[in-house]
Amino acid sequence: MGFRGLVAALLIVGALPVNAAEAAAKVDCAKVRCLALTFDDGPGRYTATLLSHLKKEKAKATFFLMGKRVPERPAVVRRMAKEGHEIGAHTYSHPYLTTLPDEEITRELESARDAVAEVTGKEPATFRPPYGDTDDRVLELAGASGLAQVMWTGTTLDWSLRDEKKIKAAVLRLARRDGVILMHDVVPQTVRAMPGILRELKKRGYHLVTVSALLKGRRLGAGESYP
Ligand SMILES: [Zn+2]
Repeated sequence: MGFRGLVAALLIVGALPVNAAEAAAKVDCAKVRCLALTFDDGPGRYTATLLSHLKKEKAKATFFLMGKRVPERPAVVRRMAKEGHEIGAHTYSHPYLTTLPDEEITRELESARDAVAEVTGKEPATFRPPYGDTDDRVLELAGASGLAQVMWTGTTLDWSLRDEKKIKAAVLRLARRDGVILMHDVVPQTVRAMPGILRELKKRGYHLVTVSALLKGRRLGAGESYP
């Protein structure tokens, strides 16, 4: 093998794992039925177990993390990123954002964003307001911090149901093509219900993807709200 052949071979070998991983991660939601499962308020003590359930079913999810909890479990957050899940900010301390003055809103959003970036090396591009409490002012300030807002199409109310069967039933009732389902990985019943939820959703033809994958190649702009 000449030098050029060797270089070509190295390039191919070097490129394969990346391409294979990309191909596996790329689901075309324009062609197949996609659903985004999202988990707020982590990382918590059940998050690692949830990641294992997702991995087993090759499902991707989106996590909106509380900034102050990130330093408690940096390894779990790094694993989240490494396993292809998406990470957004869920503020630093989970306040009602619309009740805060501008500079505190910005501080809540940016310190959560920075806490994630410090651990994963990647700045989140999205945030989700705690309690869904948002308005035009919050959205504008988020935009100035480079963040897009992600809401949901269905909320399971898992934090109040606290029952595996009811949580599973809620997810299945709310599931629809290109939907965004809100759950909490700090609710143990949600994490315990997840293997059954994932199997049933797959049986119903859903591809479980990140919120970004739902956008079919489009990128959310700073200050935009989705869906
Ligand atoms: Zn929350």
